[in-house]
Amino acid sequence: MDTLAHTQHNADSVLKNIFGYSEFRDGQKAVIDAALARQDSLVLLPTGGGKSLCYQVPALVLDGITVVVSPLISLMQDQVAQLQALGVSAEFINNSVPREQQHAIYQRVHDGDVKLLYVAPEKILQYEFIERLHHLPVSLFAIDEAHCVSHWGHDFRPHYCRLSELKQHFPAIPMMALTATADTATRYDIVNQLSLQNPYIHTGSFDRPNIRYTIEEKFKPLSQLMRYLKEQQNQSGIIYCTSRKRVDEISEKLADAGFNAAAYHAGMSNEQRQFVQSAFARDDIHIVVATVAFGMGINKPNVRFVLHYDIPKSIEAYYQETGRAGRDGLAAEAIMYFDPADIGRVKRFFEDIEDEQRRRVEEQRFNAMASFAEAQTCRRQILLNYFSEYQREPCGNCDICLNPPKRFDGTLVAQQALSCVYRAEQRFGLGYIVDVLRGANTSRIRDNQHHELSTYGLGKDKSNEFWLSVLRQLIHHGLLTQDITQGASLKLTEAARSVLKGEYALQLAEPRLQAKHVYQDKLA
Ligand code: ADP
Ligand code: ZN
Repeated sequence: MDTLAHTQHNADSVLKNIFGYSEFRDGQKAVIDAALARQDSLVLLPTGGGKSLCYQVPALVLDGITVVVSPLISLMQDQVAQLQALGVSAEFINNSVPREQQHAIYQRVHDGDVKLLYVAPEKILQYEFIERLHHLPVSLFAIDEAHCVSHWGHDFRPHYCRLSELKQHFPAIPMMALTATADTATRYDIVNQLSLQNPYIHTGSFDRPNIRYTIEEKFKPLSQLMRYLKEQQNQSGIIYCTSRKRVDEISEKLADAGFNAAAYHAGMSNEQRQFVQSAFARDDIHIVVATVAFGMGINKPNVRFVLHYDIPKSIEAYYQETGRAGRDGLAAEAIMYFDPADIGRVKRFFEDIEDEQRRRVEEQRFNAMASFAEAQTCRRQILLNYFSEYQREPCGNCDICLNPPKRFDGTLVAQQALSCVYRAEQRFGLGYIVDVLRGANTSRIRDNQHHELSTYGLGKDKSNEFWLSVLRQLIHHGLLTQDITQGASLKLTEAARSVLKGEYALQLAEPRLQAKHVYQDKLA
């Protein structure tokens, strides 16, 4: 009893005297107590939630050394530099550290002069290192970014998989796994993969109230993007795209248009990537156009927007990527451009996955993402419910809450669109049908004699975006299908007949274009 009271006093004084904070945040104290009582734990806190302190405080309260496994050199460097600045004896060992320097660090470790040692996963599992650990008074293992152990996670690292060997070698040493991953399947996987024994589990709230979620229909994404960026006036932001090719394309176009933008993807050299990341951190580069490779280790507090040019593969990925916005707690935006046709495109990628179970998991995850994108209810409610954090009330800070979808009687426009598809012999895709409806003067239309159709120019009083949105909704309603094998040509379904005959009134939603402007006006 006495010793517990003693260590608790120490945890408080470490917090105040070393870190300079007056209080623990929600959950930190309980996690620290578990570590001090030598219990395993799993700490689930969103990015910026204060995970580091959960093992840094016990490291300084307990006798001996705390070994922290961290997947990224840059993360280790940052943390160790911060700790050293506070006067804490912390070091890191990974393959970027020269041999002689590693020896000097080991010397200090064995002399008991180091309280926190950060190690790369591939290093800690080397025979030589395990041997060393056997001769050291290790008080705690902390596994940072623990979701990297999970195949199902969005950031799997093969070396993490082997970390369960630590438990075999050191069953009596408590292990703390930390992650910002909110996905339930991944949580279970972490406990299993690391062989955590009866872990204390802390789950913080994953809500990021300062992030405003918006999904815009994707029409002419590049001009939508340019328009958006112009309003941002050099604020920091990240634009995520699915392919390297697109990253290169868009970053070039943005640079040509005078934006301070750079590309980041795994096809670039380490030096190039390092350069972009640190220039972004210093605010020398305002916009990074990136693939998912631009991920962990971006600790920039003032990212004002994260924009998804393409739909991500899972809600988990979407949440992690949007979560890089607004870490300073100030208002930030998460915007996604969404074209329902992308759903089919992404799904086709999954067909190449050979492992059947894996393919099914990927598909399910993506289905959840797709229905999130298509949903017409509060975005935050869907997000948090997906992570088992039930929200009763709509959030008031997403596009749906701020600008509820408006419906209108779409019977007439549906009839116009459907009969246009029919008259064009069901051989053409979305863009072409829109052109015919709007009476575009293109050679393709003239060649097909479609300027003579009765539906030609019937809808010229409405915008391109309006008609695209109508056609997409008709697909959604099951009135049209898109024949992927024939250049995505549109075909009428059986159900279209009753709409054409006017047998019932069809409700459609107004296109969600530039929702931001609409609700800015509203808020004014
Ligand atoms: P995470 O690793 O969960 O993303 P960090 O450990 O980097 O988050 O913490 C985010 C920020 O919150 C850091 O600046 C950290 O110093 C600060 N912080 C953590 N715990 C507290 C606390 N109890 N009081 C005040 N600030 C804290
Ligand atoms: Zn909402």
